[in-house]
Amino acid sequence: MSGVSTPGSGSDVVHTINSIGMGRLVGKNAVVTGAAGGIGLETCILFAKEGANVLMADISAPALEKAAAKLKQLVPSAHKVHVQVCDVSKEESVKAAVDHLDAWGGLDIMFNNAGIMHADDADAIDTPEKIWDLTQAINVKGVWFGCKHAVLALRKHNKARGSIINTASVVALVGSATPQLAYTASKGAVLALTRELAIVHAREGFRFNALCPAPLNTPLLQDWLGDDKPKRLRREIHFPSGRFGEAIEQAQAVLFLASDEASFVNGQDFVVDGGMTKAYVTPE
Ligand code: NAD
Repeated sequence: MSGVSTPGSGSDVVHTINSIGMGRLVGKNAVVTGAAGGIGLETCILFAKEGANVLMADISAPALEKAAAKLKQLVPSAHKVHVQVCDVSKEESVKAAVDHLDAWGGLDIMFNNAGIMHADDADAIDTPEKIWDLTQAINVKGVWFGCKHAVLALRKHNKARGSIINTASVVALVGSATPQLAYTASKGAVLALTRELAIVHAREGFRFNALCPAPLNTPLLQDWLGDDKPKRLRREIHFPSGRFGEAIEQAQAVLFLASDEASFVNGQDFVVDGGMTKAYVTPE
C-alpha cells in the first residue's frame, strides 16, 4: 500500500492560526483541565491571547509549571494565569479548582478536557477491569464533576451565561477496528451527558457542547503509535486530509464554543476531524 499524500502540513496550519486576531474572551474567567497537555495547553494559550483569565489545572505539577512558563513566554500580555494541581477523578480537587475563580468574580468557561487513553485498553475480552474503571473515573466522572461545579459556580455568581465544553472524541461517533473499549465507552458517555445537561440548563443560559477531535499530533496518541509505520498507516489511510490534526485546530473550536459568538450553539457534538467521520473512501 502506498503512503498517504499530505497537501498542507500541520505546521503551516499552526502558523496561520497563530496570526488570527485577539480580544474575544475579555473579562471571562476560565478553568481548563488537562491544561499541561496538547489540546489543553493550546487552548490556554489561545484563551489568554483572547483576554481571558485562565486557571490551568492538571494532575502533573512539573508539566503544569512548564506549560505555564510557555504560555507566559508566548503571551506576555496575559491577564491572570494561575496553575493548580488537580485530579479530575476527585471531586474535592475539581471543586477547589473551580472555587479558585471566586476571587476573580466567578467562573464563566469550563473546559473539561483531561482524559486518558491507557496502553492496556483493548477489546471486550482483553481490557482489564481496573483499566476500565480508571478510564471511566477520569474521562467520565471527571467531566461530570467539572460540569457539576461549573453549574454551582455560575449560579453562585448569578451569571446570565456560561459555556461548558467537554472533550469527547470521534470514536464516540464511529466504530474502530482497533478497539480501546474503555476509552470509546467513556467518550460516548461524555457525548450523552453533555447533550442532556445542555437541555437541562438551557434556560439558565448555560451552554454545554462536546468537542469531538480526530486523531491528533499530541503525546496522548503519538507516544502510543511511536514509529510503528503499519500502525500509523492503519489510521492515516482514513484521513481525507492525509494528516493527523493539530492541537491548535481543536483549541480554535473550543475558543469559538467558549465565546459569546457561539451564543446559540448548544448541545452539539462539535466534530473537528478534517472530514474523517464523513468519509467513505479517501483520496489516493
Ligand atoms: P495529552 O495527553 O497531551 O494531555 C492530557 C492532559 O491531561 C495531560 O497533561 C495529563 O497530565 C492530564 N491528565 C491526565 N489525567 C488527569 C487527571 N486525572 N486529572 C487532571 N489532569 C489529567 O492529551 P490530548 O491529546 O491533549 O488530549 C486531551 C483530550 O482530548 C483528552 O480528553 C483526549 O481523550 C481527547 N482526545 C485526544 C485525541 C488525540 O488523538 N490526541 C483524539 C480525540 C480526543
